[in-house]
Amino acid sequence: MPGGTIDRRRFNRLLAALLAGASLSGVHRALAATAAQRKLPLIVLDAGHGGIDPGAIGVIGTYEKNIALPTVLELARRLEATRRFRVQLTRRDDEFIPLAGRVARARAVNADLFLSVHADALPRRTERGASVYTLSEKASDREAALLAASENRADLVAGIKMSRDPEVNGILFDLARRQTNNLSIRFAQDVVGELGRHVTMLTNSHRSAGFAVLKAPDIPSALVEIGCLSNRTEERDLRQPPYRAVVARSLARSIGHYFDTIGA
Ligand SMILES: [Zn+2]
Repeated sequence: MPGGTIDRRRFNRLLAALLAGASLSGVHRALAATAAQRKLPLIVLDAGHGGIDPGAIGVIGTYEKNIALPTVLELARRLEATRRFRVQLTRRDDEFIPLAGRVARARAVNADLFLSVHADALPRRTERGASVYTLSEKASDREAALLAASENRADLVAGIKMSRDPEVNGILFDLARRQTNNLSIRFAQDVVGELGRHVTMLTNSHRSAGFAVLKAPDIPSALVEIGCLSNRTEERDLRQPPYRAVVARSLARSIGHYFDTIGA
């Protein structure tokens, strides 16, 4: 397990095989089969807001939704050009999608990574810079408790056959969730490093919060605020395609690094 983690598919597959009572050699066979059948990693990109929800509104009236979408389209183009990934978008145009629907889309296609792209508005107009969020441990625990209490837990973690023993299920669910959190944090830290080489970052640029779009228990997820529309200079930057291209290039690099480190 390089770096103390294994990739999510392998992890889920391993748990499924163990749950099914497979011998160790059976587990090895299961893992080998996964590697042979492996498709390209699937990334779901989520352009924040849309439709009736403009998101943050800049000093000169720029809508966040109109900054997020072209950034995501540019990022998708760059990722697809590598021929290393499959990419799906939660929205391709000015469409309103409820937050839960965004996560549901990512889970429905069994995404390997979820990245939501936003632009911020802060109370102090002098503040500027990008930041990256992962799900806070507190929010994650609360979410897990809620999910654990629900009836439909059986299909919550892709690839894991739930046991009849609720205690075993709880342990497996928790393991998968922790693994997801660790991978999310690893990815977010790389985004901070890469983006920070090219654009201004907020202080404490890796933050955690209870964002609804980060709550998939089995998909490593991050949300990036690519800048502040409340800052006049940054709003101007964010409106420029070359600036967004720099952001998209950095994000694409981080995504590449992420899949390098998990061996996908
Ligand atoms: Zn937003």
